[in-house]
Amino acid sequence: MTNIDAFKADIAGIDFRDQGAIVQQKSRDFFWYSPVLRRQLDKACADVIVIPQGEADILRVLAAAYRHDIPVTARGAGTGNFGQSVPLSGGVVLDLSPFDAITDIRPGAIVVQPGAKPIAVDQAARDQGRQELRVRPTTHRTATMGGFVAGGIGGIGSVRYGTLSDPGNVLKLRIATLEAEPRIIELSGADVFKAMHTYGTTGVYTELELGLTEAHDWVDVLAGFDRFMAASRFGYDIANDEGVVVNEVAVIAAPFPYDSFIHHQKYIRTGQHVCLVKVAASSLAAFEEAVARHDGEIIFRTDEMECTDLTGLPSVDEMVWNHTTLRGIRMDPTVTYLQVLYPAENVLGVIENLLGKMNDEVTTHLEFIRVGGKITCYAMPVVRYTTDDRLDEINLAYEELGCRVFNPHRYTIEEGGMKATDEAQVAFKRETDPKGLLNPGKMIAWEDPDYSVSSGSMYLFPGLEPRT
Ligand code: FAD
Repeated sequence: MTNIDAFKADIAGIDFRDQGAIVQQKSRDFFWYSPVLRRQLDKACADVIVIPQGEADILRVLAAAYRHDIPVTARGAGTGNFGQSVPLSGGVVLDLSPFDAITDIRPGAIVVQPGAKPIAVDQAARDQGRQELRVRPTTHRTATMGGFVAGGIGGIGSVRYGTLSDPGNVLKLRIATLEAEPRIIELSGADVFKAMHTYGTTGVYTELELGLTEAHDWVDVLAGFDRFMAASRFGYDIANDEGVVVNEVAVIAAPFPYDSFIHHQKYIRTGQHVCLVKVAASSLAAFEEAVARHDGEIIFRTDEMECTDLTGLPSVDEMVWNHTTLRGIRMDPTVTYLQVLYPAENVLGVIENLLGKMNDEVTTHLEFIRVGGKITCYAMPVVRYTTDDRLDEINLAYEELGCRVFNPHRYTIEEGGMKATDEAQVAFKRETDPKGLLNPGKMIAWEDPDYSVSSGSMYLFPGLEPRT
């Protein structure tokens, strides 16, 4: 009997799939945005997909995995872009998407199971007391809250409340460990960071408490500008303006908006740079004045349209963050993207400087977000891919101008750059996963403590056989 057979015998009664296309399908995520990861991860596949019905099932699965040395990779909806939920060493993919109840709502906080979808969480918060999530991903219809906290960054709301790791966004985590006798650990306050953005390598969330804020009626607006710097200055000013409540501010350079936002093409002129905003209905008058002051024009607004005219039109949520990249890839499959944080000092100066340095293989896409209380840009430039080396060169050009690169063409936590895994992080992993069976290959500090992330070359997990 193989270890996997013994594992399956031990979890008798819990639903699993080990045959058919579903096994491969649930072993993949949106890593195909990256031509680099496409080559690396295409062959990785789980042996079995396990579908627990609740916390007791999860604890049983983790105990059996420990007993038989089977790797376990948690999975929400598999919408991550860096292969976060791809099981590099096979084993179990733990499908948490059906485990999606909302268990408590109170002023300022909501408690959910990991499979809950942001759209459902938001709706429940609205229905019970006009609240909404502080931060949610643009994949709010499909992604899960567990996957967002373990593998995501920020999104709608980050212009007001920062990224997920900013205080007040994730309040508590309840996690299951992978030990001989799995335990439940509850983390709150600053301790939640030990288990956040660790790609499920430090335990499996069984419950999350997330921050809520007062709900608004959001209006989607597209403002067009003839000059890119005018669009950028408007985005920066509106993000900073305390008198105008906004939840999302993105700026995308021409000709991308006209070429790639095909559903909105009739509203956009060919050479127009576009600022996409979600603005509170109560702030619209002030917003209109700001657009005019910055030499822009409102070219699209949902509040003045009939419901029938809105049918089939994507919302701003589905045009910003990595939906922008997706719309680019749909028009030209050779494009990919980068992720770059601009320094908060002199943001507009950096934007202008970079504009002169990049050629037409790079389309500027800026997401205005709050970092340490200050507005800056989390840029997600859409890049025409030629070679891996050229991607690295473009990243270097950003770094030379003081930007911080979060490389979306790497599958490890460290190379992705959002989180440094120091000794405290490794110690916490030792506590929650002493055998290193949770999502192997994703935390370099655990796999190969001597590896230098700044070496410039890509970390290749020995357990993974890249396609030649
Ligand atoms: P998955 O991809 O299933 O998993 C992500 C990571 O979390 C994996 O490492 C997995 O092992 C781990 N994990 C899942 N569940 C658990 C659990 N219960 N316990 C422990 N670990 C767990 N990201 C953003 O941050 N902001 C955006 O605005 C955004 N926009 C996107 C737009 C598009 C078009 C696409 C394709 C992706 C986008 N993403 C964005 C990336 C992704 O959609 C989000 O991060 C999303 O929240 C991930 O959720 P998921 O359920 O799909 O997670």
